[in-house]
Amino acid sequence: MDISLLASLPSLGIGAADLATALLFMYGLHRMSSPATASSGISVAGIGMAVAVLASFLYAFDVDSAARPDLWMNLGLAVVALALGGGMAWWAGRTVAMTAMPQMVAIYNGMGGGAAGAIAAVELFGGKTQGMTALIVTLLGALIGAVSLSGSLIAWAKLDGVIKNPLRFKAQQVVNGVVLLATLAVGAYLVVASVDKSVRVLGGLGVPASIYLFFGFALVLGILMTLPIGGADMPVVISIFNAFTGLAVGLEGFVLQNPALMIAGMVVGAAGLLLTLLMARAMNRSVSNVVFSNFGGASKHKPGKIKGELKPMQPGDAGIAMRYASSVIIVPGYGLAAAQGQGKLFDFVKLLQAGGVSVKFAIHPVAGRMPGQMDVLLAEAGVPYDMIFQLEDINDEFKTTDVALVIGANDVVNPAARTDKGSPIFGMPILNADQAKKVFVIKRGEGKGYAGIVNALFYGDNCHMVYGDAQAVLVEMIEAVRGLGLKAAA
Ligand code: NDP
Repeated sequence: MDISLLASLPSLGIGAADLATALLFMYGLHRMSSPATASSGISVAGIGMAVAVLASFLYAFDVDSAARPDLWMNLGLAVVALALGGGMAWWAGRTVAMTAMPQMVAIYNGMGGGAAGAIAAVELFGGKTQGMTALIVTLLGALIGAVSLSGSLIAWAKLDGVIKNPLRFKAQQVVNGVVLLATLAVGAYLVVASVDKSVRVLGGLGVPASIYLFFGFALVLGILMTLPIGGADMPVVISIFNAFTGLAVGLEGFVLQNPALMIAGMVVGAAGLLLTLLMARAMNRSVSNVVFSNFGGASKHKPGKIKGELKPMQPGDAGIAMRYASSVIIVPGYGLAAAQGQGKLFDFVKLLQAGGVSVKFAIHPVAGRMPGQMDVLLAEAGVPYDMIFQLEDINDEFKTTDVALVIGANDVVNPAARTDKGSPIFGMPILNADQAKKVFVIKRGEGKGYAGIVNALFYGDNCHMVYGDAQAVLVEMIEAVRGLGLKAAA
C-alpha cells in the first residue's frame, strides 16, 4: 500500500468523525424538541460525543504528533481521565434525585467551562498560539470559560443550599466592573507582550505570572457576578452560563482548528441562549432583570388583603369527588418532584380513567426548578405523551373542567400574575386552574412558592386544600377510590 496514503489515514478518519459528530449532535438536538423523542435524542447526541472523543485519539496519531516522545504517556493519561470522568458521571447520573437535577446540570456546565479554560491555559502557558487574532480568541475563551466555571460552582452551591442567601453589598456592580476591566487589562498586556517582547508593564510581571493573574481575576468575576443573584433565578443563570460555556468551547475549537469542538460549542451556545430567552419570556421578565434584580428575595411588595379562607379537605374525600367528576386537569409543580409522587399520581390517574373520568396534565413552562422537569417526571412515571398539554394548548379548557388538581404547584397557578401589578410575578402567564369548577390543592402547609408570595387561589370559594406530602396524599386518595371497588386496567 502507498505509504503516504497510510500516513493520511488518521486525518481522513478525523474529518469523517467530525462530520459524523456534527450530524449526530444536530439530529440528537432535533429529537430533544419533543418529549416523545427526547430520550432517544440524548442517546444520539451521546453517540456523537463518543465519536468526538474517539476522534481526539486519532489526533495523537497525526503524523506530527506521532514523533512526540510523550505520546503514549499522554494517551495513558487521557484514558485514565476518561475512565474517572465517565465512571463518576455514570454513577452520578444513576443516583441523582430528580430534585437535584438542576445542581447536577450546574456542576457539569461548570466542568465544560473549566475544560475550555484549561485548553486555553495549555495554549497560553505553552506559548503555542500564533498570531494576535488567535491569542485574543484564546483569551476570550479563557475569560468566558473561567467565569462559567466559578459562576456555575456558586450556582450549584446556592441550589444545593450550601450558600443560603444572596450576598449583596453597596456598589456591587461597580466592583464587578472594576474586576472585569482589570481582567481585560491583563489580557491586553498579554497580547501586547506577545508582539513586543520588550514591553514591561504590570511592574515587570512576567508572562506566566500574568496568565495566572488573568485566570484569577476571571474566576473572581464569575463568583462576584453570581453571588448577588437570588436562588430562584439560578436555573436561568445556569442557562446563561451554559451559553457562555458553549461560546468558550467554540472559541477554543477555533484556536485549535478543531471542527468538532467548534460545532459542539456553537450548538451548546445557541441552545443555551435560546433556553435563557425562553425561560425569561415564560416568566415575563428580561434577562437583565434576572441578573440584576432581587427576585424571590425578601419582596417589599405587600399584596392587598385576600378575601376568603383556607378550607382543608381530607385526601380520601377529594379522591372520591374526583372519581365522580367527568373531567380532571392535573397541574404538577415543584412539590410533586420533591415528594417523588409521580408514580403514585399515575396510579391514581389510571384508577380515575378506569372510572370513565377524562384526565389531562397541564404543564407550565417554568413549573419545577428547571425547564422540562415536569415532562421528565411524568415520562419517568410512564404517563403517555398524549395526556400532557402545554400551557397555551390547555389553558382555555379549565373553565369547562370539573376539577383542577394542583399538586405541589404554587406560583404557576397564582392569579396575582394577572391582577397584582406590584407582584414580582405580574405578567407571567399562569395556568387558569382558578377557573375550574372545583380546585383541589395538595401541599404540606402554608409554604410559599419560589417567588415568596401568597396565593389568592387557595382562598377561593371553589378551592379546597388537601394538606400533606404529595406522595402520602396520593396514596390515601388511591385507597379511598379503591375502597369504592374500582380497579385500574392492567
Ligand atoms: P413553587 O415553588 O411555586 O411551589 C411549590 C409548592 O410545593 C410550595 O408552595 C410547597 O408548599 C409545595 N411543596 C413542597 N414540597 C412538597 C411536598 N413534598 N409535597 C407537597 N407539596 C410540596 O412551584 P411551581 O412549580 O408552581 O413554580 C416554579 C417556580 O420556580 C416559579 O416561581 C418559577 O418562576 C421558578 N423557576 C422555575 C424555573 C424552571 O425552569 N422551572 C427556573 C427559574 C425559576 P408547602 O411548603 O406548603 O408544601
